Amino acid sequence: MQVRSQDERPRRFQDPGAKPPLSFEMYPPRSAKGRRALAETTRRLAGVASAGFSVTMGAGGSAPSGTHETALEIAQISGRPVMAHLIAQGHSRAETLRLADGFWQDGITQILALRGDPPSADQAVKKGGFSHASQLVAALRDRHDFRISVAAYPEKHPQARSLDDDIDHLKEKLDAGATDAICQFVLDPAAYARFVDACGRRGVTAPLIPGLMPLENWPRVRAFAMANETRVPRRLDRLFGAFEEESEARRLAAMAVVAEQARQLVAYGAPALHIYALNRWQMPLALAQVLQNADQAAALGLR
Ligand code: FAD
Repeated sequence: MQVRSQDERPRRFQDPGAKPPLSFEMYPPRSAKGRRALAETTRRLAGVASAGFSVTMGAGGSAPSGTHETALEIAQISGRPVMAHLIAQGHSRAETLRLADGFWQDGITQILALRGDPPSADQAVKKGGFSHASQLVAALRDRHDFRISVAAYPEKHPQARSLDDDIDHLKEKLDAGATDAICQFVLDPAAYARFVDACGRRGVTAPLIPGLMPLENWPRVRAFAMANETRVPRRLDRLFGAFEEESEARRLAAMAVVAEQARQLVAYGAPALHIYALNRWQMPLALAQVLQNADQAAALGLR
């Protein structure tokens, strides 16, 4: 029998009745149709978004507009807390802080403080802007009484020299005033467990919330993973490759995989789950129902 290494083995099974708090990441819509879809998704997920929603800013090279309005709309429809992403890239320090002031004035008091990506790899952060997220966290902390989260990378940020170096920079962000970190998605839950252990060894004690990507569109998720240097398990390539021509079967397989990933992340001790809903509700809602009805899931042998 092959013995798995310690860090590959789920080390903490929670009570069968435990329900991880769930948050859902959305993005500002770019059309009237997109706005209707966002409103529908918000309504559908409001009941299960126990840790609220978050709204991206300028992700994927898009314009950094729309975050503020989208956050207000989601808060109004859902009645849940909404965290606005705030990126430093592309703004001077004064411009970034003006955006933060606007959030504060409208009651958006949770921020995911990010450096953001330069439009292209060879472009630097705008002159006079915050060059690292830790500087932005410190400035936000001095400005208003925000609740500040930051980003973390279980498999290392692509630009970091090493995982240890990256974890030390994560610690700088937390020491500067952030309360927790939301992780880049992983496709192998054991990578999250190894990261939590590595963070513990370097003195990071804040909650590290794993990101979970619904796998509805495997080619797209795979491309994201390659861009982020997230490891793609060969078994997932084989699984989705088997259903290349059969979209319904592929969706069912994706749901099964995501539910299992979520279960493992919880077993590894995830304090909450951040689901990259990206303005779609079907798979995120189905996943939430599986997790929130843990007793039923236990009866079905799912945990
Ligand atoms: P930082 O923490 O500043 O780190 C960036 C790099 O610099 C890392 O390699 C780090 O190790 C290194 N570093 C940090 N501090 C120092 C230092 N003092 N000296 C030397 N090196 C240092 N992008 C968007 O554009 N919009 C979004 O809405 C968005 N949402 C995201 C949500 C989540 C949950 C995650 C995980 C990422 C998100 N991103 C988003 C992507 C993010 O902006 C990019 O990954 C970006 O390249 C890094 O941002 P950061 O805040 O992690 O940067």
